[in-house]
Amino acid sequence: MFVELIDRLRCPAGHADTWLVAAATRTAQRHLLDATLGCPDCGAEYEVRDGEIWFGARVASAPFPVTEDETMRAAALLKLEERGLYLLDGGWSSLADELRALLDVELLLADPPGHGAATPGAPGVLRGIGDRWPLAAASLHGVALDRITPARTDDAVRLLRTGGRLVAPVSAVLPPGVRELARDERHWVAERVGDVIPLRRARR
Ligand SMILES: [Zn+2]
Repeated sequence: MFVELIDRLRCPAGHADTWLVAAATRTAQRHLLDATLGCPDCGAEYEVRDGEIWFGARVASAPFPVTEDETMRAAALLKLEERGLYLLDGGWSSLADELRALLDVELLLADPPGHGAATPGAPGVLRGIGDRWPLAAASLHGVALDRITPARTDDAVRLLRTGGRLVAPVSAVLPPGVRELARDERHWVAERVGDVIPLRRARR
């Protein structure tokens, strides 16, 4: 994982948003290869091994087919933009190399089917993700979900900036905080709506 990613990580335990503190034992070119991430709030510790960050036990996922059509479809659903940061969950991770060849984007992979590459410049890999994403609010431009639970889908909305895209299997219920844009037989895509700021009429 690249060291800058630490700023975006948060303890996934159910307490107030807390940064994680890294103690690295092996690094290479601003990448943490082996490290321990500690939560100053609850004391939880998460291991970084070969550049992958472990938040829980291994979660199995099946790869998606990698074709030009699938790559273009994913890029369109996520509305991929240069220099954006996107999270690809499970099988979506299969398209990581192709999407990065298409545009200069930063990717985070959650429980990818294969092994993540611990090479400099490779996407960050998060492992063992449960219902709460270990990431800061409004830190991502888009999220493509593979494995869904209602809590996981709801929490993914928290990660998105206003206008950020959420893509999920059609079997997922549309969570609060997003507006549906389109759906086909496989996925729906929605965008994060801004927080509603109540306007009060001035009275005199
Ligand atoms: Zn914690």
